[in-house]
Amino acid sequence: MADTYENYVDGEWRASETSETFEVTNPADTSEVVAEVQDSGESDANGAIEAAAAAREEWANTPGPARGKLLRETAKRMDDRREELTETLSREEGKTYSEASGEVGRAVNIFYYYAEKAMDYAGKRSKPSANDQNLYTVREPMGVAGLITPWNYPIAIPSWKMAPALATGNTVVCKLAGDAPTVFLKVTECLAEAAEAVDAPDGVVNVLTGSGSEVGQPIVTHDEVDAVSFTGSRSVGDMIYEQATDAHKRVQTELGSKNPTVVTDNADIEEAARTVGSAVFGVTGQACTATERAIVEESVHDEFVEELVDYAKSVDVGPGVEDPGMGPQVSESELDSTLESIETAKDEGATVEYGGGQPEGSEYENGHFVEPTVVTGLDSDATVMQEEVFGPFVGVLEASDTDEAIELANDVEFGLSAGIITDDHTEANRFVDEIDFGVVKVNGATTGLELHVPFGGMNASSSETYREQGEEGMDYFTIIKTVYDDY
Ligand code: NAD
Repeated sequence: MADTYENYVDGEWRASETSETFEVTNPADTSEVVAEVQDSGESDANGAIEAAAAAREEWANTPGPARGKLLRETAKRMDDRREELTETLSREEGKTYSEASGEVGRAVNIFYYYAEKAMDYAGKRSKPSANDQNLYTVREPMGVAGLITPWNYPIAIPSWKMAPALATGNTVVCKLAGDAPTVFLKVTECLAEAAEAVDAPDGVVNVLTGSGSEVGQPIVTHDEVDAVSFTGSRSVGDMIYEQATDAHKRVQTELGSKNPTVVTDNADIEEAARTVGSAVFGVTGQACTATERAIVEESVHDEFVEELVDYAKSVDVGPGVEDPGMGPQVSESELDSTLESIETAKDEGATVEYGGGQPEGSEYENGHFVEPTVVTGLDSDATVMQEEVFGPFVGVLEASDTDEAIELANDVEFGLSAGIITDDHTEANRFVDEIDFGVVKVNGATTGLELHVPFGGMNASSSETYREQGEEGMDYFTIIKTVYDDY
């Protein structure tokens, strides 16, 4: 029988006041229940926010090195449970064991990284204009941070929000996504043990499961929440941004995208197809940074499509825990949405060069599997070339030259991660200058990020208010006080 997880609120594990739970199933075989979790309601969320508010002052006054200790002790416990976390992640989200292992390793490192940062993040001293004056800034915590996270990086994203929030002295209320919440509930066990070991106040960390409308909404609007950090879809994010700003909160939203990779005529085409292929089909295309538009100069277009189709053919699809080339989609609704997009592409005149449906065979019957899919022949303004398709899907566009390729790369509302594959350094530099995306990759996949540098989108991909990750990730959770001290 699958384990049941409770919410972690005010230093204890609590069943939801609704007395309701829901099952988390394995997307590779939906007959397998991975865990049962709380289907919490508004009063659970309010209880968690009140607990976080009650702990706010004590945690804000806890010295940075002591806050760092909570994070370090958490990281150690996560490190000890690496294999278990990896298996859980792969089983409930569907990504391959290798992908899950990479994500777990990243989450462990995020906690270690901010444990160190907590020790010396404070403010800076400046030269005053007058003599006999100390002029400096102090960075103070915002207070209660409300964190709302998606299912696609279900351990990394809550970690990269929670660790900098705690390091800078905020208390947190985190609402996990309904799909794939178990892996972070296990991290919450590590946090709970660490909090006890370092004697952190109750209520510093609060983690809940439940629906967006019941548990997410109070976090966005409650008076005691000072800053809301959201990662998820554009439609929900835009709504939350308005609600939170109306309620005079600081808010940060990081959303979907439609990421391009440009391939110029002097690139090594076989290698370009491998790079683009990994950025399209990695994590089953369910990455906000996945390439969905390959923009290829016309003299190498056909060769590129041939190589990309060969790459797609080489991706073996199967259950994530068996570590194939690609796992299933996370849920039936995500699978349906991808299949619908493929139908829309066909209706708008696309040629399906590879894939386009569900793989056949008894091993796929109980899972949300889809084929890696490559289409050509669409215009830039076709629906599936403009809207995010959150699955293993790419459309290849033809460009007459690099100028047109860059123009096409910018021809979307989104702006998260863009790439160019070229042998020409001048073209690469021009691309970096002219592209309106928050992450730019030269000769690399649009996916894959370092944790110690800032991350965030432009245009419709982000509220553009602050960056996440790196030292900049801590800025969001703090407010600056400027001190003029005459002596
Ligand atoms: P989603 O918007 O459906 O849900 C995200 C979170 O918001 C979930 O926890 C959900 O329960 C909650 N939520 C839903 N309705 C709510 C409401 N009314 N009030 C408060 N909370 C609510 O997104 P998803 O399907 O979980 O995630 C996939 C999306 O996330 C994709 O668009 C992807 O591109 C994007 N994403 C972006 C980044 C980034 O850094 N830019 C990273 C990962 C994923």
